[in-house]
Amino acid sequence: MNISDILFTRRCPFCESVISLSETECKSCRDGLPEPFRINIGGSVCACAFPYEGDFRAAILKYKFGGRHFIAGALSEYMCGAIDKILGGREFDFVTYVPQYRPKKYKFNHSGLLARKISKRLSAPCRELLIKTVKTAKQHELSLAQRKINVKNAFSAAGDLSGKRILLVDDIATTGYTLSECIYTLKRAGASDVCAVVFCASRG
Ligand SMILES: [Zn+2]
Repeated sequence: MNISDILFTRRCPFCESVISLSETECKSCRDGLPEPFRINIGGSVCACAFPYEGDFRAAILKYKFGGRHFIAGALSEYMCGAIDKILGGREFDFVTYVPQYRPKKYKFNHSGLLARKISKRLSAPCRELLIKTVKTAKQHELSLAQRKINVKNAFSAAGDLSGKRILLVDDIATTGYTLSECIYTLKRAGASDVCAVVFCASRG
């Protein structure tokens, strides 16, 4: 893929066929798109755009590990669709996201970019409300039992969040342990309502 291809051609985020600038995905993928669904994590509702399988799993992994940052706009559109369907009518004071440990300026936060795009759509400010206080191992490299322990007490809130309604953004939820710990941390800091949204989630 060359630079003019990236800048001037829009491709379906799932099958990569060329689409028009007014489309989000190609017709054949559009026809097979499943409905957004909800899961419960840490006593909160999490809106999920797609199941973590097939082309949806491939798309988010390409975004996260394959350098395809430019599809963030398309991915966030589907997440906004899930918000409308699952969380419709709720209002949020802030949009936030799952943080990295000691983020460097050059280090790209995948969830942060999605959160900023969603924040614009919802007209709710995006804030870094969570701090990762412990350097943890990568969740996807651990066993299920290890994942829960790995993120326990790994986050703290950036300040008093008394009475705040917060939308927490992440890219993928598999076990939900990371989101659960973040939700717990936000509520412990006083947040009155926390909801989450992800691009892909395991249906459990
Ligand atoms: Zn397609």
